[in-house]
Amino acid sequence: MREFDPIVFDRRRKAGKKCTGIISYDTFYSLNISREFLDREFKNIEILYDNKYSVHVNTNVTRLNREKLEIWLDEEVKTKRPRDAVIKGNIVISENEKYEGVIIDCSGWKGKAKWLKAIEYLTEPINEDKIIVYFDSRNKGGFSWIVPLPYGTLIGSISYINPEFFLPKIEKRVLDKHGGAIPRVYPEKKIYDLRLGDSTGLIKTFTGGGIFSIAKLLSPLVAGITNNNFEKYFFTYSNIAREIRKQYRITNVLEVLWKFLPILFRMYNDKTINVSEEFDLHSLLFRRLPH
Ligand SMILES: Cc1cc2nc3c(=O)[nH]c(=O)nc-3n(C[C@H](O)[C@H](O)[C@H](O)COP(=O)(O)OP(=O)(O)OC[C@H]3O[C@@H](n4cnc5c(N)ncnc54)[C@H](O)[C@@H]3O)c2cc1C
Repeated sequence: MREFDPIVFDRRRKAGKKCTGIISYDTFYSLNISREFLDREFKNIEILYDNKYSVHVNTNVTRLNREKLEIWLDEEVKTKRPRDAVIKGNIVISENEKYEGVIIDCSGWKGKAKWLKAIEYLTEPINEDKIIVYFDSRNKGGFSWIVPLPYGTLIGSISYINPEFFLPKIEKRVLDKHGGAIPRVYPEKKIYDLRLGDSTGLIKTFTGGGIFSIAKLLSPLVAGITNNNFEKYFFTYSNIAREIRKQYRITNVLEVLWKFLPILFRMYNDKTINVSEEFDLHSLLFRRLPH
C-alpha cells in the first residue's frame, strides 16, 4: 500500500475560491467531509420563466461552502503557492525543481469549450427557504438565481452576454462580489492521465456544476493511488463522460429552441416535479412528467 504525502501547486496567492456551491445531498455525502462545510439544505426550488410561469421542484440539495473547504484543505495539505507548475509525463516542474510521483491534474479546464460568464453577489440575508431560479427569454442558454443562506443571500447569473443584466433585483446591501467563467465542454470519451475537477471536462453542461464529478471520481482515484490500479477511476470517468456528452447535446438543442421554452413552461406551470438523481443526471429529466 502506498503512503500519501501530497503536494499541491497552485498559481493563486490565496486559497478559497467562491462559488454558489449548490450540489445534491448525494454529492455532498460522497465528498466525505464534515457537515461544518454544509451551509444549508434545500428541499424546494422554484423555477420562474420571465416572471410569468412558475414550476416547483421537490428535491434534496445542499449548499457547500467551497471557500471554507478549500481554506481548510490548504491548511491540511502541503501547498506551494503562488507557484506555476508544468506536468511532463510523471514529473511536475515548478521553479526549476522536479517532483516525481503520481500526478493528478486539477488545473481547471484549458481545452475547447463554449464559455459563459458568471457573476454572483452576496447580500444581507432574506427570509426565504427555497432557491429561486430565473429563466429569461433574452438570456439564451443562461439563467439566474437567488440562494438564501443563514448569513447572507447569493444572487447570481450566468450568461453568454453580460450576466449583470440578468441579476435578480433585491433591496439588500451587497457584502461581496465574485464571479468567473464557466466552460460548456464536450468531454472526451476516455482519458489516459489522472485528473480531478474541471480539468476532466466533466462539468454539468447547463448549470456549470463541477463538484458532482469531483465527488464521483474521488473515491476511485484514492483507491487507485492506494492500490496502484486506476481501472475503476477510468471506468467511472467514461460513465460520467457519457452522461455529460448527452447533457451537452441536449443543451445545444435547448439553445436552438430557446424561443419555444414558454411552451414547455406553460405545460408545467404551477406543477411540481420530483427531482432526485436527475439533479446531477440532467439527461434523465426528460423522462419526468408532472404530477
Ligand atoms: C460563480 C460560479 C458558481 C458556481 N456554482 C457551482 C455550483 O453551484 N455547483 C457546482 O457543482 N459547481 C459550481 N461552480 C463550478 C465549480 O466552482 C467548479 O467546478 C470548481 O471550482 C472546479 O474546481 P477546480 O479546482 O477543478 O478548478 P478551479 O477552481 O478552476 O481551480 C484550478 C486551480 O488550478 C490553478 N492552476 C491552473 N493552472 C495552473 C498551473 N499551471 N500551475 C499552478 N496552478 C495552476 C489555478 O490557479 C486554480 O487555483 C461554479 C463556478 C462559478 C465560477
